Amino acid sequence: MVDLPDGEKILRKLSVGLVQTNNGIEKDGFLKYPYSKNLQRAINYLSFFYLMNGLPIPIGIGELIEKAKTVPLGEWQLNLSDDEYQNELLLDDEGVPTELCEELAAEELDYNNPDSFQRRIFESIKNLAESSKNPDITYTQIREFLVKYPLSTQDERSDILLDVSLKSNIFKELVLDEVYQDKIPSAYYVNGMILRCELCGNLIKNQKNNLTCTNKGCEFNRLSNSKKQKKYQELNPGQEVRQAHFGVRRYMSIPGIPELKLKDDLEKIGCKVTLWPGLDLCDLFVETPSDFKISIDVKDWKYPHELAKNVNQKVMPIKELESKGFSSDLYCYVFPDIRKKENPNYKNAFKSACNPKVEAFYAKDIIAKIKEIWS
Ligand SMILES: [Zn+2]
Repeated sequence: MVDLPDGEKILRKLSVGLVQTNNGIEKDGFLKYPYSKNLQRAINYLSFFYLMNGLPIPIGIGELIEKAKTVPLGEWQLNLSDDEYQNELLLDDEGVPTELCEELAAEELDYNNPDSFQRRIFESIKNLAESSKNPDITYTQIREFLVKYPLSTQDERSDILLDVSLKSNIFKELVLDEVYQDKIPSAYYVNGMILRCELCGNLIKNQKNNLTCTNKGCEFNRLSNSKKQKKYQELNPGQEVRQAHFGVRRYMSIPGIPELKLKDDLEKIGCKVTLWPGLDLCDLFVETPSDFKISIDVKDWKYPHELAKNVNQKVMPIKELESKGFSSDLYCYVFPDIRKKENPNYKNAFKSACNPKVEAFYAKDIIAKIKEIWS
């Protein structure tokens, strides 16, 4: 008897396959055979699911990709319990995964998954930090580098080698050489140059004469064409420009951007902020001027229900934080303000889907609260 996954599981597998397929296209500059094994497996599951339910089955990968670009999820007949996604697509008209697709794939691809590439990198960084004179500082230096440089030049990689106080050849072999393997395909050059977003550090591509940051949620993509002109750097391909592995970019670098921004904003109002305390037990440990202590995880997800599912699987490790000297008066999640703008009900939707109950704030609100009450 075959154990057939339900519609939601199939959707998640499909999303993983689509993300990996796109990842391959970005790396090579074109769609290469064989396609992602996960995509093929997801198509098999989907075909079987449709067959069992008496529905017409998709023929192949091309048809499936077309469907992902044009048919909203509500029409896929997957019996999804969550109607939040009814009108959403899995791929945009260029075939690039939407934010929903990336968030559906996160369970399998983010660094909490012990089998993922980024988990291996995360463990290497942790081990290297632990063997250094000052583990917290070393860990933070390396993580900050990965957040700031999803795209890096040879000079930038050499500079971090000098900055980090540990055996540099091991760091180079286990982290830098592993993470920065991908050259930028020349199909993505703009006038012979590689464009790097000044807002998030990711690659900018020319899509139908429109400059687009490959970090889909980046503010760059909401700017007018004239404003975009000042918001990128031009890198010469001769500078040995390398892109970080997709998993590191998407699930380590991009989430780090709002973490660093919140740190800056909190320091501006007089707080002392420790990044990734206890080698990443949470994102920020904040001490206000009146010595109120707050442990924060910054979460920048578009879909609050997907975020809640992720948080339910990995709650903040309060006991470990306490045992490492980071006892706090408040443990909470913080969302960038843009999430409220996009969806005024975001926080409530997240909190009601969280189990156990957690505290959550928009960035603006926690800063206001610190200014009013805790400083
Ligand atoms: Zn960007």
